Amino acid sequence: MPQSLRLLGIGGIGIIRMSGKDCFQILEKIFEPKRKQDIKDIKGYTIKYGNIIENGEIIDEVLVSYFKAPKSYTTENMCEINSHGGNIIVRRILEICLKNGAELAEPGEFTKRAFLNGRIDLLQAESVIEVINAKSEREAKTGMKQLEGVLSKQIAEIKQNILDVMVNIEVAIDYPEYDVDDVTNQQIGDMLVKVENQLLKLEKSFDNGKMIKEGIKTAIIGKPNAGKSSLLNAILKEDRAIVTEYEGTTRDTIEEFVNINGIPLKLIDTAGIRQAKDEVEKIGIAKSREIAKEADLVIAIFDSTKELTEEDLEILELIKNKKSIILLNKIDLESVLHEEDQRLKAASCYIIKMSALNYIGIEELYKKITDLFQLNEINLDNEIVITNIRHKNLITKAIENVKRTKRTIAEKMPLDIVAIFIKDILEDLGNITGEMVSEDIINEIFAKFCLGK
Ligand code: GDP
Repeated sequence: MPQSLRLLGIGGIGIIRMSGKDCFQILEKIFEPKRKQDIKDIKGYTIKYGNIIENGEIIDEVLVSYFKAPKSYTTENMCEINSHGGNIIVRRILEICLKNGAELAEPGEFTKRAFLNGRIDLLQAESVIEVINAKSEREAKTGMKQLEGVLSKQIAEIKQNILDVMVNIEVAIDYPEYDVDDVTNQQIGDMLVKVENQLLKLEKSFDNGKMIKEGIKTAIIGKPNAGKSSLLNAILKEDRAIVTEYEGTTRDTIEEFVNINGIPLKLIDTAGIRQAKDEVEKIGIAKSREIAKEADLVIAIFDSTKELTEEDLEILELIKNKKSIILLNKIDLESVLHEEDQRLKAASCYIIKMSALNYIGIEELYKKITDLFQLNEINLDNEIVITNIRHKNLITKAIENVKRTKRTIAEKMPLDIVAIFIKDILEDLGNITGEMVSEDIINEIFAKFCLGK
């Protein structure tokens, strides 16, 4: 697989990882520690200093970490060669490992082994990639919580609720002479309601999860000269803002991902705002309407030195049914437009006085956004959040199966049929954690990983 030899970045240190029962034997052939020691005597979690040698030639001076089974990432024997960074050295050591019996890992192979060897479930394995790809602290934190197993535990609890009742159902099926149907039906009904509520809560958390992962789709709208590009600049110039620019979903737009105080914002059509330099080009109401339509949040900005115009009133109308924040800009100048204005109040509950040019009101804007989306620490730390669409789809499927089972009971179907439907719910949940998942799906999931993880 020569294409997999493609190495990613250049760093000060390169790490070559090996996993598998023979990895120490391979290491012994290529690594000459300064202080020789029998592999049996080397403890796990130790680091040894020495050289990588090929045909008597020193290839690099390295540090090697030892991890002994089962206490390693994959639960197998593992070692990590920390070499000097750069493509040449790392590639050379990798090739020496391969020559001495190692095989090249597929993307995600180490995590896949951790999953197949039962150290983590599929859900946790998937969270590894979420942590690596996280664009904001919040996303990384949510990923870490999943890696720790918070969501797995919740799924296990739901499954246990179902299994408890399944035992009764099995008894009722096996010993039909006992008249337990009524009691069992009641129990199943109660359990289904409880499970449905737990699943609905998880399903709903995906809205938040999606926002954490993809950012709150935010549109900045306002009539020409209100201060849109000044606001954009103020947001983007924040030292703490990590800005990633990428092509938007709609043609000709650029979306920018900004992460401030852990709040991920995906600003829509920032290109439109930036390009709109002269009066003719400036973003008009029609365009604003278009941008606002697809936004989770609309920030409507008004020039507070001017009275509201027809166009402004149209913008206010536009934001009435959306999550929105009104900014009264240019408060460093004399204002004629005030927060008490009923027309403003009727359009949005959040009105902030601002001077985009002087960075006044920006902090308050962030705070309002956090409030509006309940993305504050307390809520998020206590809430289990689904961020992965595969999990979300399986939960939705499980909810449908719960509903179907409820109908079956209402129709007084025999218990063995009810049992089959309940097993479908268990299967959906098992697919999330990976107990029952097919090999194809497993391969598809790990193919998305990077090399070496
Ligand atoms: P846009 O057309 O909505 O993007 O508006 P701009 O951001 O280009 O701003 C229009 C004009 O208003 C520019 O000359 C800005 O310098 C000015 N401006 C923007 N924000 C403020 C502010 O807070 N105070 C003052 N005094 N001027 C501002």
